[in-house]
Amino acid sequence: MSALSNEIRAEVLKMISMGGPLSFTEIMERLNMNPKSDAGKFGYHLRTLIDSELVTSDEATGKYYLTLLGQDVANFIYGVEEAVRRKKGEMQVRTSSLTIEPFDRKKIIQALIREANVPRKLAESISKEAEERLKKLQIRYLTAALIREFVNAILLEKGLEEYRHSLTRLGQPVYDVTLTIENAAYKGLSSPNEVHSLAGDAVYEEYMLLKLLPRTIADAHLSGAIHINNANYWVLRPADVQHDLRPFLNGELPPDGTGLTVPSHYAPKSLRGALYATLCLIKTSSGLVSNAQTLPFFNVFLAPFVSGMSDEEIRSELRDFVYVLNAVINGSNMSVGVQLETSPPDFLVNLPVNKSSSLRYGDFIDDSIRLLKLLIEVIGDSDGSGKVFLNPAPFLKISRKALVTDAGLESIAKACAVTQKWGNVYYINQNPEWQTENAAYNADLSRLDSGWKDWELGTIRNGVLDNITINLPRISYAAKGNDDRLIERLRELVELSKEALIIKRQVIHNRMKDKLLPLFQEQLSGSPYYRVDESAGIVSFIGLPEAVQYHTGLDPSEDAEALKLSLRIVEKIKDFCKESTQSIRILPSYITFEPTAQRLTNLDISSGLVEGKSVLPYTEHSVLPLSRPVPLKKRLQVEALFQKLTLGGHFFNIRLEEPFPTSEMICNHVKRISETADIGAFGFTRDYMYCGKCGNIAAGFEDRCPSCSYSGDRLLKYTRIYGRCLPSTKWGNSERMFAMETQRFML
Ligand SMILES: [Zn+2]
Repeated sequence: MSALSNEIRAEVLKMISMGGPLSFTEIMERLNMNPKSDAGKFGYHLRTLIDSELVTSDEATGKYYLTLLGQDVANFIYGVEEAVRRKKGEMQVRTSSLTIEPFDRKKIIQALIREANVPRKLAESISKEAEERLKKLQIRYLTAALIREFVNAILLEKGLEEYRHSLTRLGQPVYDVTLTIENAAYKGLSSPNEVHSLAGDAVYEEYMLLKLLPRTIADAHLSGAIHINNANYWVLRPADVQHDLRPFLNGELPPDGTGLTVPSHYAPKSLRGALYATLCLIKTSSGLVSNAQTLPFFNVFLAPFVSGMSDEEIRSELRDFVYVLNAVINGSNMSVGVQLETSPPDFLVNLPVNKSSSLRYGDFIDDSIRLLKLLIEVIGDSDGSGKVFLNPAPFLKISRKALVTDAGLESIAKACAVTQKWGNVYYINQNPEWQTENAAYNADLSRLDSGWKDWELGTIRNGVLDNITINLPRISYAAKGNDDRLIERLRELVELSKEALIIKRQVIHNRMKDKLLPLFQEQLSGSPYYRVDESAGIVSFIGLPEAVQYHTGLDPSEDAEALKLSLRIVEKIKDFCKESTQSIRILPSYITFEPTAQRLTNLDISSGLVEGKSVLPYTEHSVLPLSRPVPLKKRLQVEALFQKLTLGGHFFNIRLEEPFPTSEMICNHVKRISETADIGAFGFTRDYMYCGKCGNIAAGFEDRCPSCSYSGDRLLKYTRIYGRCLPSTKWGNSERMFAMETQRFML
């Protein structure tokens, strides 16, 4: 006890306990003693400690360390000091669970061990150091977050970077949050919810990069070699879902999954009940996927419910459905597609409508066509204030039969009239061989088909897990004109993307186990409703024309050799996607799920790979540049070469100039493309404006409403951007550039 009765000696004990063995001069330096003049005084103190068997020295290294007794005594000193501080009310900590409590060093030790597996001894010494330093700083507003920052800094100083990664906090700087709130309207955020979710986006994106993906993949994303779409929801949701309406219409599954949260008809008896179940399904699923959901065979599966109803009654129900649908998904950035069959496919015709019925879908063919035509009509109408319904996106599936039957031709004509008005129909040509028995395009333009097992496992109750986009120009810059290097680097990046998608599949399996995807995990005839292993991962690309132009010096929209290289690159992507060690469904696509080209182009500019001044963002959602005029005929030919290679997603967006053609002209083109071209998905897009002041619709883009001259922010422009019909209130920079710069055609 007398050895402890001196401040310097107590300090020496604490110092060695915290910092490990130290030499004579190291200790003196830390005590701010002069090695010459104070040596005698210090030597006396050190001897006293050694004589009391608290400290001993190692002859080999000349360092002093604590005996077991010394360690106990040092801990005792810490305990006393802490108790005194607590009593005096010093070092109060605001915790993340919103309490104020006295500083407790043990909590640091516990966190280091629990969160980062730090060895106990090391955790002890770090916690002591943190306490000492915090004490000296006399911080007035001490928070748990600040202590964490402090501990992290100590870890970094000691070269313990890996531990620090596990202990770091995810989130946003105060400044960023302030900016988001203040600039919300400018950034196209239209509600507090959207602002709120941005903070979550930031956390989950960082979490994905820091914790979930191997460093190679995270770095490839950050450096811009690839782009991980939906990074904000990557650890939580799949990208989209292709539903199967049948179990909800025949009462096998309630539309919220459990039947416990929303009122449920179970087996609906009327069209109204059936549409209500469909809406519940969409509402539930809109929290479970990132991009889109689609209702395959919509008019076939609902046909039994319209039997015996008049057109007027059906139209009225469908109108309510479309209104409520748009209200239900408003604010979620979700699109909903309906797949409409111009003639019910053969594999459905003989299936029973439900288990207890002798009726088959084939008994309701006329009703299914009636339903199709009436829904198209409703979608073609405007709402009460004169504007377009953004959802559902109609996908009209054109079969060979439809091109030669009255019913089919009438359906196509109806759709073309809507195209003439709103330019929002998606034509799905089922005729090319590679479309298989059933090709299912989702509202995010991803594509699945029955080439995977059969039409059920291949195209319903599954979806796209997610989409990784490859920056092709980056590969070109690295290849320096060498073909082999180009293909080799391409292979590496496809492999990397596949690795990421395999991880994504495991992530969704885990979320199903965590019970975080209600409805999707509900059991239905022996498997969960959402079939994760039948769902696809998409590998997409941007900048194909730019990559080829850099590699060959030639423009693929003009030069045949350059076009050949474009084809070879996409063929290779397709081949590399197919080579899979694990049986995962990987598909190539030229569709990105979010605007990606701008980010990747900017990264290439900032790393000096490309001259910044005159560069437009790389081409996205197309295999030829969209800003350069290429005749429609030529584009159709090129498109036909590429769509059959990109079976994970494609869409030929034919944006037309004003004056817009008549619906008969559009109809002729739709028929001709379906009969003769090797094109699976296409659409004619119209640009128009809606004036929120006078309700006028005007063709083309102008600065003022031609009817009332209004020019404020209730004047909306509409066009199809990256495959989605979007009003200008939803455009960011990339969308605005796309809307203003891309080529328009004359028919
Ligand atoms: Zn107006």
